[in-house]
Amino acid sequence: MSKIQTHIKEVKLFINGEYVESSSHSIFEVKNPATQEIIATAHEASYEDVDRACRAARKAFEEGPWRTMSVAERCSKIRRMAEIILERKEELARLEALDVGKPYHVALEREIPRAAENLSFFANFMEQQGGETYPMGEEFLNYTRYEPVGVAALITPWNLPFMLTTWKLGPCLAAGNTAVIKPAETTPLTVSLLGEIAKEAGIPDGVVNVIQGFGPDSAGEYMTDHPDVDLISFTGETSTGKAIMKTGANSLKRVAFELGGKAANIVFEDANLDKAIPVSIQAAFMNSGQVCLAGSRILVQRSILDEFVEKFKQAASELKVGDPQDVETKMGPVVSEEHYKKVTSYLEIAKEENATLVFGGKRPDLPDYLEEGYYLEPTIYIQENPNARICREEIFGPIVTLIPFDTEEEALEIANNTDYGLNGVVWTDNLQRAHRISHHVRAGTIWVNCWFVRDLRAPFGGFKKSGIGREGGHHSLEFFTEAKNICIAL
Ligand code: NAD
Repeated sequence: MSKIQTHIKEVKLFINGEYVESSSHSIFEVKNPATQEIIATAHEASYEDVDRACRAARKAFEEGPWRTMSVAERCSKIRRMAEIILERKEELARLEALDVGKPYHVALEREIPRAAENLSFFANFMEQQGGETYPMGEEFLNYTRYEPVGVAALITPWNLPFMLTTWKLGPCLAAGNTAVIKPAETTPLTVSLLGEIAKEAGIPDGVVNVIQGFGPDSAGEYMTDHPDVDLISFTGETSTGKAIMKTGANSLKRVAFELGGKAANIVFEDANLDKAIPVSIQAAFMNSGQVCLAGSRILVQRSILDEFVEKFKQAASELKVGDPQDVETKMGPVVSEEHYKKVTSYLEIAKEENATLVFGGKRPDLPDYLEEGYYLEPTIYIQENPNARICREEIFGPIVTLIPFDTEEEALEIANNTDYGLNGVVWTDNLQRAHRISHHVRAGTIWVNCWFVRDLRAPFGGFKKSGIGREGGHHSLEFFTEAKNICIAL
């Protein structure tokens, strides 16, 4: 039995400013992945519930005052949401750790503060925005306004539920849209609180709605099909993105997709390994490897392969795997039974493909009360064949593959040998090479001698099957606004 329990035993739907039960009385269980204990039940939104949420959001959009209030007033309410999140950060971090299985201190120190920053950043950023003016001689003047689009469906995955939802909600609200949010069915706890946080911050009823449920034939699909929804911002699997695009096409919805990844983390022989090793360990095993930006393929130049393997293995052996609620824990379980089966199926696949197991590959030794948890040791393979499945497919768990290479050209070829293109990482002390590799890796973000460093103004998103569109700074605002040109005869 876990030492920490949740105070939220029943996760309800937040529609038009109040928490309500599912009209179909359908509920589903929420489990702690570290123990398999049922920690709460959640109400699954029926079609009628989704319809009510979308209509409430439409009404709040059309009738105001959210869309029409001054930017300063709107943004001060969004900033208040950020303050409340910080005031409640311990509670939110505990819940996130219970629900996702991530270490409490990571949620407390990084993710919950970043969630608050997502809101305050976009509130501040929005206040700085202007428009364009194009005088046509003395006769006409054009000026541009950026107006909200309407009702946004915000659909998020289970790996960083609160952080990723606020990353969408910040620009959505700052631009004057209203929202219907759906977190992943596996991890509904923290996002459900956004309803009461918005209310306490003074955001009018109907502007923020949070529904719960599954994807196909459930809340997710109902939202993406709903005639009152104008735009969909989705983060999740590439295959889900395809399904959402098909459903949304019926009513020509605008979409922004942040999808899967399989980043190449390329370590050249001139890299500073004292920096590259600890950061690469983070990149591989943070959140049990359940990070879209994970450096899950490490391309290592052959001349330093032995040294890299030894040091990397040593660092992996020092990662403390355990109860997410303990301060020393560096890695918890993966999120669910279904996901555990998917991740561990790659142990068989790796064996069939003759990968060499360097470290891990089994359940760690843990105290009795964590016996049922979905744990896997940090696991390291070497695979010479870059076409092997563990080198190309997104595993989304604590399994990393080292792929040796000899030349820069070969490294680039391997790095681009995947359908994904979210990000890449380069470790080298050679400036020209750093630029060359950064230019030729086909991915939306390249980190040179670092990883996971984010400036919220910078574009974030994927090439290839890793996404459509960009988030961050004005890129987010572009998605959440309609540009209107007004031409005046003078
Ligand atoms: P998922 O695609 O299974 O689910 C994501 C969300 O979509 C959930 O809320 C789910 O209920 C909903 N959904 C599922 N089917 C749907 C449908 N047909 N219509 C509408 N909604 C539907 O993803 P997941 O397993 O929760 O998350 C892991 C994936 O997310 C990984 O592929 C990871 O790379 C990706 N991810 C990407 C980023 C990024 O920024 N690019 C960030 C985090 C996670």
